[in-house]
Amino acid sequence: MSIVKSVSGNPAPAAAVVSAPVAGHLADARALLDVAAEALDLDPELHELLTRPERSLTVNLPVVMDDGRLEMFTGFRVQHCGARGPFKGGIRYHPSVSLEETVALAMVMTWKCAVVDLPFGGAKGGVRCDPRRLSRTELERLTRRYTLAIHPLIGPQRDVPAPDVNTDARTMAWMMDTLSTIEGASALASVTGKPVGLGGSLGRASATGDGIAIVALELLREAGRRPEATSVAVQGFGKVGRAAAHAFARAGCRVVAVADVSGGVHRAEGLDLADLERYLAEAPNGLLAGYTAPGAEAISNETLLELPVDLLVPAALEGQINGENADRVRAWAVVEGANGPLTREADAILARRGITVVPDILANAGGVVVSHLEWVQDRQGLFWDEQRVDEALHHRMTKAFADVSAVARERNVTLREAAAILAVGRVAEAIRLRGIYP
Ligand code: GLU
Repeated sequence: MSIVKSVSGNPAPAAAVVSAPVAGHLADARALLDVAAEALDLDPELHELLTRPERSLTVNLPVVMDDGRLEMFTGFRVQHCGARGPFKGGIRYHPSVSLEETVALAMVMTWKCAVVDLPFGGAKGGVRCDPRRLSRTELERLTRRYTLAIHPLIGPQRDVPAPDVNTDARTMAWMMDTLSTIEGASALASVTGKPVGLGGSLGRASATGDGIAIVALELLREAGRRPEATSVAVQGFGKVGRAAAHAFARAGCRVVAVADVSGGVHRAEGLDLADLERYLAEAPNGLLAGYTAPGAEAISNETLLELPVDLLVPAALEGQINGENADRVRAWAVVEGANGPLTREADAILARRGITVVPDILANAGGVVVSHLEWVQDRQGLFWDEQRVDEALHHRMTKAFADVSAVARERNVTLREAAAILAVGRVAEAIRLRGIYP
């Protein structure tokens, strides 16, 4: 039934579903929507509606630098689809932040929240900047000015930001304080990923990494593989990759390689993560470069992606596995820790080669799952112990994996297509139930 026709009786315009030609991540996000729409036989008008964000805000931010100069920064907040609840999604600081990229990431958040069945819509924000060149005080002024600029969109029932690339609990504390100051009221539930001492949730900091390991272990269990017989390589040793590596090691897997921006390290017998942590704690820049251990060899990020391992976890940035290197991936399965680490071309190559891919909207949803728990705790003013958070995370991730895996089997599609079909179906259902206003 036509979503518009069902309400207004107007005929659908011809060629309703022609997406504007866009490149990169947005094109990939739209292509995935197209696949799900076709599988669901989605009404063309509803499909067209979902290709566009509900609201995009561009803000220009004057920031006084430490030397007294005024520098202008550009930021965005994009709300893709709020049919299922308040908008939810992180804020990233990176030189590559653009409106188009933010639209793609907001759309991905809509599907991610729906796959794990959270009562949230998808949003994303960001500021184009190189945070490595900013001092702590400059970062704070930038964050507070950005928060002021997007403030009209933000609130516990409107839109709830969280950390993403190059932002963390400290950034969220500044955001929460700025919102509270503007509103003259505590804005605890307006931001998640806050420090535990400021209304944050226990378990949030490691939630994305923990969730990656939970779904990967489900995949192993389904395939009859044992964690003890599983080798893992993790690209990205930041908030996500680091927690994932530790979670895999705790589960008995052999973490044989890790890498960050400075390069990586490989040890076929498995890395001693405690030894690695001791090195990082002392390293002046906190990076892996220069780490040595008996039997360990230094490797590049490119080499890590091509190691013969059971599980490969790209947990750094977008497009790491692409048409250039997908043929050289030798993992049994790839678990997407980052958002969009595989291009669409790479995805097709891996599918053809029979390499299983656990997609980002399922694999890295642990972060937003615990963000939801944080939001619930903030709103009720009562906080849970770590065990309760861990159990809730485990329950939601295993349920989501089982749901996606069932769709993949029923329809004979990849896990990525299955996750998109499940998510788009849930979002479309909410839109149908609400109808189109006015
Ligand atoms: N930035 C994270 C993501 O991409 C977390 C978002 C959130 O917690 O709202 O999933």
